[in-house]
Amino acid sequence: MSSEVVLAVDNLAVEFATWGGSVQAVRDVSFKLHKGTTLAIVGESGCGKSVTVQSLLGLIPMPPGRITAGSARLRGEELLGLGAKALNRYRGKRIGMIFQDAMSALNPTMTIGDQIAETLIVHTGMSAAAARQEVITLLGQVQIPEPERRMRQYPFEFSGGMLQRAMIALSIACQPEVLIADEPTTALDVTIQAQILQLLESLQKSHGLSIILITHDLGVVARMAQEVAVMYAGQIVEQGSVDDIFYRSAHPYTLGLKAAMPGKAAHKAQLQVIPGSPPDLFAPPAGCGFHARCPHVMQLCESNAPPLFGTTHQARCWLHHAAAPVHPLRQQLIASSGS
Ligand code: SF4
Repeated sequence: MSSEVVLAVDNLAVEFATWGGSVQAVRDVSFKLHKGTTLAIVGESGCGKSVTVQSLLGLIPMPPGRITAGSARLRGEELLGLGAKALNRYRGKRIGMIFQDAMSALNPTMTIGDQIAETLIVHTGMSAAAARQEVITLLGQVQIPEPERRMRQYPFEFSGGMLQRAMIALSIACQPEVLIADEPTTALDVTIQAQILQLLESLQKSHGLSIILITHDLGVVARMAQEVAVMYAGQIVEQGSVDDIFYRSAHPYTLGLKAAMPGKAAHKAQLQVIPGSPPDLFAPPAGCGFHARCPHVMQLCESNAPPLFGTTHQARCWLHHAAAPVHPLRQQLIASSGS
């Protein structure tokens, strides 16, 4: 894996002010994205994964959203705190974004071709004629047949899979270094999902893209990612290589997610579930955010928030403290991190 860091996020914290109080949606999140690799951020709905990446590009509504701490540097250039005009130098140009629902992300009143061409003209200063030619090339690259005809069509004339391809063409139009794909295949059937993932893999190779993939699907993670960050209740609770996460899982929540994968339970009458529900982020627990659901909970966990233990493979769990009772999960972290 490349050691060249393209994007570094440190201690990011994001809150939302609501009538009921302040929701601490993202708490102390740090990760690095390396050149030409895919980092998957996984977790259940509402864990803060989309807010994390959207806040990097100023895409959360502020107010009520507020970035209260942290930094995010693209090749050393700070993104947090920039105004909309300054951020436009990065959005779409150096960082592309694929949204979950292409139909609502694309403008229904403009043709597909005009939307992609507009991005090229605004960000690269290309002439309208050159942009038109580039749109045809881009639609061809994402395997949309008859690109000259399809570019004159509106989003409602595209199928779900074709719309997602058009969205990918739009996101790579300005040859970004980083591509953020937020649940890019959730709304698609499995056949189209496989085609879109294959397309992303081939574009990553041909364009040298570094990808942040947001998903709740561990099957997609296993296929696409080299690095994985598992989020729970606004925090990263485990991160490491894809092999660390799948074969040397060191956090009880990651184990719960793996046990809930349909493939594992296909022979059983019922899917396994993680009992209970995530904590209220209006008032996150003083201790471990997972303590109410954790089968290994100790007295300490209820009142003391665990730090991340480990080096290259990290887990936010007291079981990894040197003074904790010896536990098989601790051996996993020691095996992979040497900590
Ligand atoms: Fe479970 Fe305690 Fe570890 Fe939290 S810190 S995951 S409650 S053992």
